[in-house]
This record gives sequence, structure tokens and C-alpha cells, in this order.
Amino acid sequence: MTTNFHRAYPPQTVPSYPALWLLFHGNKLILQTEDSRDITEAEKQANKETLSIPLGDATLLTEIEHEEILYLGLLGDIPCVTTNLKDETRLPANWRAVGLRELYHHLPEIEFELAGYAHQITNWQHSNRYCPVCTTPLLSIAGHWGHTCPNNHYTGYPPVIPAMIVLVHDNDRVLLAHKPGWGKRYGLFAGFVEPSESMEECVRRELREEAGIEVTDIHYFTSQAWPFPDQLMIGFTARYAGGEPEPQDGELDDIAWFNLAKLPDELPPPFSLAYILINDWLTKQTAQAALKEKG
Ligand SMILES: [Zn+2]
Repeated sequence: MTTNFHRAYPPQTVPSYPALWLLFHGNKLILQTEDSRDITEAEKQANKETLSIPLGDATLLTEIEHEEILYLGLLGDIPCVTTNLKDETRLPANWRAVGLRELYHHLPEIEFELAGYAHQITNWQHSNRYCPVCTTPLLSIAGHWGHTCPNNHYTGYPPVIPAMIVLVHDNDRVLLAHKPGWGKRYGLFAGFVEPSESMEECVRRELREEAGIEVTDIHYFTSQAWPFPDQLMIGFTARYAGGEPEPQDGELDDIAWFNLAKLPDELPPPFSLAYILINDWLTKQTAQAALKEKG
């Protein structure tokens, strides 16, 4: 996440108000409209509202049933707090509960990232309260979000699940994948890391399993937190080294080579790691093509 956000851990408490309230109701993020009038369903559908994360003092939840309030840290000098609202609580007229995925690209990037982090922490606190061996309530570990069993059976921390995504290139062409339901969009190969596997082994295995190909020159590119849920997408590039690319395990329904002159009608959404990798490759190819023309 951005360097402008400074994380805090229990037992730190909110230093001051107003704070940014990252509230969840049935897994959806609460956003506030600018005015408190109850708008019509038609206006909601037409997206005529300006929605933002509530900023307010400690009285914001006075009338609302909620779980424990958790202090996440400072965004600049604004404290950020989070909690789950109880399912049965009634929301104020100017609050909207919106699915996190729908907000991708609609909230400022830092607020979207913060909402993802808050969602992971509230889920963790909610679902990790009792020892999985003896069911005794767990204790907090000071300075972390971790929990531990007083009878020494179990210690756990919020999970981060690594997954790799890879762009396969071969001189001036790039290998893209298509899944059922993607329409005209082509994207990259991706998969979860298995226990006892390195990232590079994961890249090789997934490409064998999904595409029936071998690769070499595997290089780390960049990574992106992806809270749907708890994932860390780790991006790579790899050079094609052999095999006839063909869908292998039913996950993909097409695999095809593309180049600057022939690109798919649709690419993954901007700001996704898949798009960033493809865009970087396209930029380099365009520069090389320009050089060739000059030379
Ligand atoms: Zn225990």
C-alpha cells in the first residue's frame, strides 16, 4: 500500500477524531452520500450519487450495532478505523452498502486499497476468535494482528495467499489466454502457489498444466495485493521455450499468440496486474518497432 499510510497494530488505540470509518455490512463497504435525503431507486441506478467513505467522530456509530472497533493506522494524519456492523442493524438513510469489487476504479486508489485491507482485518478478527484445537477464546499478540491459544495449541496471523501471474513472450509475440465467459478479452496465465513450491516452480508448473508449454528466463516484475480475499498477486515475465500451446485442463478454452499488429479486441481492466504486464510489453515492443524503422 502507499507509503502515505502508516499501519498500527493492537493494542494501539485511535489517537484522535475525526477518523475515516471503513465499515462493513454483510461484506459490503458503507459509503455516505453528500446529503441525507432518501433518493429514489431510479437515481441510485443512474449512479447520480456522490459517494465517499464516512469521515466522522466517535459518535458516528452511537445508534448502530457493531463489533469491536479496530484501529488500522494513519492515512497522512487521518486515523482509519474499521468494524463490521451487525446484520440486523438499520442503516441511516444516506448510507449505501456497496460490494468491494464494484468500487474498484470508482474510489481513489488509496481508499480502495485501504478498504481491502480493512476487509481482510475485520474478517480475520471475526473468524479467528477460538482455538481450532480446544475452542478456548484466543488471546491477542501485542504489536500484531495475530492470535494465540492460552493452552499453546495454536498461533495464527492474517493470511496472505500468494498467486503468480505471468506474461509469456517469444521475440515479437506474446502468448495470451482466454477463459470461458471472458467474451472478447484475453489475459495472462495465473495460479496459486502449492505448498513447498517456489514462485519460479509455480510459474513452470502452471504453464505446463494450463498450456502444455515450457518456459525459461523467468523474471519477477512487480506485485499487487488483491483482497478477494487475502491474495497477493506476484507478476512475472517468462520466455517461451517449447511445446505446442493448447488448453490442457479445462480451465482455459483458447490460447493464442498475439503481436503489435494483431492484438485481442479486449484486454484486462486497467490497473490490474495483468494489464500492467501487457501494457509494459506493448510499450517495449512499440519502442523496438520504432527503432527498427529508424535503423
Ligand atoms: Zn487451544
